[in-house]
Amino acid sequence: MINLLMFGPPGAGKGTQAQLLAAHFRLRHLSTGEIFRSEMGQGTELGRAARAYIDKGMLVPDEITVGMLRGYLKPDPTFRGFILDGFPRTIAQAEALDRLLGEWDSGITRVFSLEVPDEELKKRLRQRALTSGRSDDLDENVIEHRLEVYRKETLPLKAYYARQGLLEVVNGVGSIEEIFSDICSRIHLLGV
Ligand code: AMP
Repeated sequence: MINLLMFGPPGAGKGTQAQLLAAHFRLRHLSTGEIFRSEMGQGTELGRAARAYIDKGMLVPDEITVGMLRGYLKPDPTFRGFILDGFPRTIAQAEALDRLLGEWDSGITRVFSLEVPDEELKKRLRQRALTSGRSDDLDENVIEHRLEVYRKETLPLKAYYARQGLLEVVNGVGSIEEIFSDICSRIHLLGV
């Protein structure tokens, strides 16, 4: 299996690149943010629970997020593996993912960290707010809070994956095609 993680702050381009990579390498794409938004749209109990955190720019608690991911992430022979974007966001989530993959005798193949300076992220998120319809893109304070939560809770994962030799740092500033082609060539180097 080829199991990839897209890592990086809000607005780094994880979703865009994950979608392209999923189609190119026939991977199942799962975005926890997208799943939460779809649950919110349907007004499910999970959606209502998640909204309270998402609208404030906070992380949804690990128990809820991990429980949800477990429900969605099953081995599926029609794909060569999966690509996750927006998960894991905490060390506890990363450990839960390792345990889940251990149950399948599988593991993470690579973690791609998209690096983009803060000012550029804010510019992109403001731009995205014009079309995304995302409640959490609309408010400057919520955007600031999401970046702060990223630095405090999610950034330590970089060291977690670097220690395991899985981390690939990617320049996330450039055209979508340039960044996609950079990541593709690194995946090809793995013999894929
Ligand atoms: P995203 O679409 O990845 O930017 O996620 C949007 C929002 O959903 C985040 O700001 C969080 O509130 C929530 N969310 C998405 N993924 C996770 C996760 N792995 N852990 C906790 N909260 C999450």
